[in-house]
Amino acid sequence: MSEWLQCIANKHRFPIDEIRYTCDHDGDLLEVERDHLIDRNSFDDRSTSHAPIDQSGVWRFREGVLNVDRAITHPEGGTRLYERNGIFFKHEGENPTGSFKDRGMTVAVTQAVRLKATAVACASTGNTSSSLAAYAAQAGLKAIVFVPAGKISSGKLAQTLAYGATCLAIRGDFDAAMRLVREACARFNIYLVNSINPFRIEGQKTIVWEILQDLQWDAPDWIVVPAGNLGNTSAFGKALREAHKRGWIARVPRLASIQACGANPFYRSFSEGFATRHTVTAETIATAIRIGDPVSHDKAVAAIRDTNGIVEEVTDDELMSAKRTIDGMGIGCEPASATTLAGVQKLRAKGVMKDGERIVCVLTGHILKDPEANFRAEKVLEIDATLDAVEQRLMGS
Ligand SMILES: *Cc1c(COP(=O)(O)O)cnc(C)c1O
Repeated sequence: MSEWLQCIANKHRFPIDEIRYTCDHDGDLLEVERDHLIDRNSFDDRSTSHAPIDQSGVWRFREGVLNVDRAITHPEGGTRLYERNGIFFKHEGENPTGSFKDRGMTVAVTQAVRLKATAVACASTGNTSSSLAAYAAQAGLKAIVFVPAGKISSGKLAQTLAYGATCLAIRGDFDAAMRLVREACARFNIYLVNSINPFRIEGQKTIVWEILQDLQWDAPDWIVVPAGNLGNTSAFGKALREAHKRGWIARVPRLASIQACGANPFYRSFSEGFATRHTVTAETIATAIRIGDPVSHDKAVAAIRDTNGIVEEVTDDELMSAKRTIDGMGIGCEPASATTLAGVQKLRAKGVMKDGERIVCVLTGHILKDPEANFRAEKVLEIDATLDAVEQRLMGS
């Protein structure tokens, strides 16, 4: 079975074990390609296995992800698909470190070990850094994370530090941290594991494959995903292309990528038929997608085109209101994840999504990732430690 790296533009091939993230020609992104046949029945058969590599919702699909005998796995994936009020929610916040980032990170860190890297790094709005810190700790690698100073949630920063990563708080936004980490990795010989790393994308494809498997390979009409750096949008497009090409599904669901209005470069590009690549100075309450210059733009354009997909934007008020709805169903998620439900509400109102269509929203992060977004001081009723005080509060006065 053979696997290689391939330029998305000129299709030039590089060995799978070469350390590179872009093609020399135009700096285009690379993707992992393979030529062997893969039968989806082997995935279903593994559901009864007790081996960690089979229990992982990533490595269960390893023939389509990365062929390895040994993986750095928690295991991850195997998240639940909830149905509430006629909409499915795939809760990726149920991954080991509380976000979907674990799916790409198990593959990128496994590859880092195969390449005999000693240090790994990423720029992050907080979830990638938490995930990298955990997997690097498991693998015994040094982890260095570049985060925008003052712009990541306390939960994510605390988690990253707890797992033992070296944390560089950059005076600048995520996009500045991203540029810096790329230069630093090249200069100091550190393995870069942002989603520009094609192995991350291979792992993230399994969100879609697991959804399809959850639905017994009867594809939904829509898959809805928050869009920041566009790694997931890219991965979802590749996952659907491959699933359809290999005959695992009869038809391709439409992708809906949802951005926050204050961080909407991909939405702007989509609105112009992708004629220009936009960048913005990003600002939104959903810090996980506070990104103005997404690195996976080109791959994400292909994902939207190949799936007859759509890009929508929602305001911070709309996404926070959708978060209260998701929290109120007893599921819960962090703000960025709630762009999905807010997007569905908007696209239904516009008639783009129709009654009766099967919709899967991907909830990317756990409710406790962003404690500040949950805290509502007015809901906390402080009282004296007496029954009278309880009665007064409960019975009203
Ligand atoms: C990283 C992240 C996103 C953005 O995903 P991209 O693949 O960068 O578009 C969305 N939500 C959460 C919770 C994240 O951690």
